[in-house]
Amino acid sequence: MASRKLRMKVFQHYGGPICVRCGSTNFDELTMEHLLNNGSEVSKKDRKNIYRYIVNHNYPPEFQVLCKKCNQIKRREKKGWLIGNITLLEDI
Ligand SMILES: [Zn+2]
Repeated sequence: MASRKLRMKVFQHYGGPICVRCGSTNFDELTMEHLLNNGSEVSKKDRKNIYRYIVNHNYPPEFQVLCKKCNQIKRREKKGWLIGNITLLEDI
């Protein structure tokens, strides 16, 4: 887990310590979300230390602040979207 100081520094670059989706300011629940969400550009090792990665890569634009709850909801939505697409293909 990254230090609060490092996390705060990173959050400040992405609009401050506030969830872009629900507006939560619960600092302990806030995480950095990779918008491309395929992880292809961020290795597993880097994902474990994402704050350090972001600083070392000069704050890439494809990140946003998201709370853990919204992160989970987003993941579920993505899964649903995929399942929906598969169903559609089967119907054809
Ligand atoms: Zn949220």
